[in-house]
Amino acid sequence: PRFPVVIVGAGPAGLTIGNILRAASIDCLVLEVETREFIERRPRAGVIEEWAVRGLEERGLAANLLQRAELHTQCEFRVERERHRFSYTELTGHHHFVYPQPLLVTDLVREYADVRGGAIRFGVRDVQLHGMDSDRPTVSYTDPVSGQRELVHCEFVLGCDGARGVTRSVLPPQAGIARQDYGIGWLALLAEAPPSSDCVVFGIHPRGFAGHMPRSPEVTRYYLECPPGDDPENWSHERVWTELQERLAAADRPPLTEGRLIEKRVLDMHNYVVEPMVFGRLFLAGDAAHLTAPIAAKGMNLALHDAFLLGDGLVAHLTKGDSSGLDGYSAACLGRVWDYQEFSQWLSDVYHGMSSGDAYRAGTTLARLRRLFESPAAAASFAEQYLGKSSAS
Ligand code: FAD
Repeated sequence: PRFPVVIVGAGPAGLTIGNILRAASIDCLVLEVETREFIERRPRAGVIEEWAVRGLEERGLAANLLQRAELHTQCEFRVERERHRFSYTELTGHHHFVYPQPLLVTDLVREYADVRGGAIRFGVRDVQLHGMDSDRPTVSYTDPVSGQRELVHCEFVLGCDGARGVTRSVLPPQAGIARQDYGIGWLALLAEAPPSSDCVVFGIHPRGFAGHMPRSPEVTRYYLECPPGDDPENWSHERVWTELQERLAAADRPPLTEGRLIEKRVLDMHNYVVEPMVFGRLFLAGDAAHLTAPIAAKGMNLALHDAFLLGDGLVAHLTKGDSSGLDGYSAACLGRVWDYQEFSQWLSDVYHGMSSGDAYRAGTTLARLRRLFESPAAAASFAEQYLGKSSAS
């Protein structure tokens, strides 16, 4: 078979691009290792920035999101049992949308496969890329039903297969990959418990960072800083709730509402950036190209930003012969990528300074927090970065 574009990976990046291509009647094939049921349930991100929602809306992809997402206007820091509200919408007029990633992926798959008639294969095995530096690239994979190897001829291959995918592995050894490891773990939890506050709460505590993120009236995401590589089995129900109650405690608030833990995973906090994001006919997008530890909740937003630029660039190239979007793709993405990486690093210092065991770092962390609560200029700068650059490019 022949498709102009093969997209490896059905996450937010791959599916958004697929939808943009199908809206312009361009044929493409999406290859995904997991089943449709699995990707429609995989819990992950929740925070989507306003410009990204606008970008989805402009492409006809936000109808459910706009009906069902919650709007967040403020967050709260808890330090030394005191609460500090930070009303970013009051400062900027902008807000955050909270819409769980599985719901967005479900919307995007339905629109792509069932409405716009896009081709997609789930459960494929052993995807391999060939001839990315030629003008006749091919992609091969094992079909899960027939067990046969299939070979697809195409013009472009899009590596949208996330942090653990295969497409990045065909980059030549001289490709630039900048990496950073925080040496910190986060226990990522989902609790069947209503949120205990109406907003995101950050606990900055000598025992380690803790986060509270409302996901729905019934489900709350929590994070607990832990040693990197820690075994989630070390974290019993009792231990998790004792630590969360301690690290998120506030003198004037009742204890958190506890509930069954339905997800418990340790994430090692690290970042990487592939630069440039293009190699011959292979274009990387989303986590395949750059990972930002979920410290600042930016990963899915960056994946959507790449997807808008790459989708629009491919449409212009394939329908009008205008390759300016594709030529400028990597540089246009990387500006926002590095901006968000820097913010994530800054925020990591704030979240983890008190628990670093270093009195000097603890002192500077408290100074940063005081500046954030007391200086309007510092608050405005933080709000701008927390919400993400408001223009879509
Ligand atoms: P993915 O969503 O990873 O999709 C890649 C797809 O490719 C997957 O479906 C995978 O199964 C498939 N695949 C992998 N290998 C292959 C292969 N060899 N062949 C074919 N298919 C393959 N971001 C935010 O913006 N806000 C948040 O609040 C936030 N919270 C997060 C919380 C957690 C716990 C985690 C882990 C991440 C969070 N993120 C957040 C990050 C966000 O989830 C990712 O950045 C986002 O999923 C990236 O989208 P993507 O399409 O690039 O990759």
